[in-house]
Amino acid sequence: MKLIFEKSVQGRRGFRLPASDVNVKAEIPAKYLRVNDAQLPEVSELDAVRHYTHLSQKNFSIDTHFYPLGSCTMKYNPKFTEGLARVSSFMNLHPLLPQLEGGETLTQGALEVLYDLEQLMCAMTGFDAFTLQPLAGAHGELTGIMLMAAYHQSKGNKKKYIIIPDSAHGTNPASAAIAGYETISIPSDKNGNMDLAKLKEAITPEVAGLMMTVPSTLGLFENNIDEIAKLIHGVDGIMYYDGANLNAVLGRCRPGDIGFDVMHINTHKTFTTPHGGGGPGAGPVGVNKKLEKFLPISRVIRRSNGQFALSYDFPDSIGYIAPFYGNFGLLIRAYGYILMLGKQGLIDTTNHAVLNANYMKERLKPYYKLAYERICMHESVFSATLQADRGVHAIDLAKYLIDQGVHPPTVYFPLIVPEAIMIEPTESESKPVMDEFIDFMIQADQLSKDNPAVFKDFPKTMPISRPDEVKAARDIKTSFFHHS
Ligand SMILES: *Cc1c(COP(=O)(O)O)cnc(C)c1O
Repeated sequence: MKLIFEKSVQGRRGFRLPASDVNVKAEIPAKYLRVNDAQLPEVSELDAVRHYTHLSQKNFSIDTHFYPLGSCTMKYNPKFTEGLARVSSFMNLHPLLPQLEGGETLTQGALEVLYDLEQLMCAMTGFDAFTLQPLAGAHGELTGIMLMAAYHQSKGNKKKYIIIPDSAHGTNPASAAIAGYETISIPSDKNGNMDLAKLKEAITPEVAGLMMTVPSTLGLFENNIDEIAKLIHGVDGIMYYDGANLNAVLGRCRPGDIGFDVMHINTHKTFTTPHGGGGPGAGPVGVNKKLEKFLPISRVIRRSNGQFALSYDFPDSIGYIAPFYGNFGLLIRAYGYILMLGKQGLIDTTNHAVLNANYMKERLKPYYKLAYERICMHESVFSATLQADRGVHAIDLAKYLIDQGVHPPTVYFPLIVPEAIMIEPTESESKPVMDEFIDFMIQADQLSKDNPAVFKDFPKTMPISRPDEVKAARDIKTSFFHHS
């Protein structure tokens, strides 16, 4: 491993694989070498196939069930784009090829896809340039904050704080802290907007910028963006748009037009690339002219002869943020999805995502307390306090839903809503599927009146009923087989 790494950092054209006759044993200190043979289980191929097939059938996925997990946007991943990512001339490209002599010619198609996708993202968001490298939404946030820091450094600004409303996604303060800033939290007002008076109190020349999740984790569009942007720009701060949930506004408004300087997109939410067990993701970052020169390298450029190339010639760049060109397979899927739908298709998608969320909100609000009585965007947030008063909490309702064969909505998030239940149907779902879910929720409410005690036993249909989640997190078993 060390050998490969050293060779790979020798330089773009200096990469060589280690010779196959390297004596691995000689390189590993004796204390790390195995003394006894590994006690591996001996099973037949058929037993192994059955084991893994049964495991796979226990998986819960959007391909099998309704999955209204708010904020996460578990929408359908079209099989068409899966096929595109498996086209052999994409799939079999070696990531080092563009850097090798003559490699640029062989990778024109792949480079053009990346270039074109960046252009499409600029057009959809109103920004001037994009990097496709970040490997998740949160990684995009970190990249964006690093760009912010580079901007302030280049201007000799002394900055210390990033302002974040309490309705932001939890990754926002985490990203700001990892990048070395202190965070200031601003409460929401009674309508779910940022409290402007509190914001004004927090603004000082030491404010580096503001990170805003739009729509917020309350599923609401912030009403005072113009004024907030003016206040932040007034102290030469940078406006960051958490666009993980761009699927709520795509085609209807562009972050770059309404006062933001930098944003990230989650391709695994807005552009239907798979979430895959917490990864792999892709979190492209867009910027306006203020921040463009700091974007990570490499960047895809188009030469005057029309040829595409990778350029490392950006002296103000913050450097590498991820190996190679980001999660290329996901970027291909996102590109295919965007082209497949086209402009009108994407606008229709947004309209349906918002319509579906509002439909479910209106039908459920006679039974569950709505956190904010407003038109919602792609998701709505309820507060199960009526049910909690009967002894049935959001977690109990979630466990009930599991037995009905649907994935529960997000519960206990956002933190600022007690007994939160956050429902995001996405545009993929049909009315009958949503109606069935609404019926389950209405039945659950009725049951909470008739027989609240039964909830403690749900779910009854799963291999594991109610794990001790604290113990599960602290006492992790990573291996199925134990040797003593
Ligand atoms: C999902 C999400 C993120 C984090 O994205 P990851 O790809 O999971 O890192 C950030 N912000 C918001 C608003 C999100 O919904």
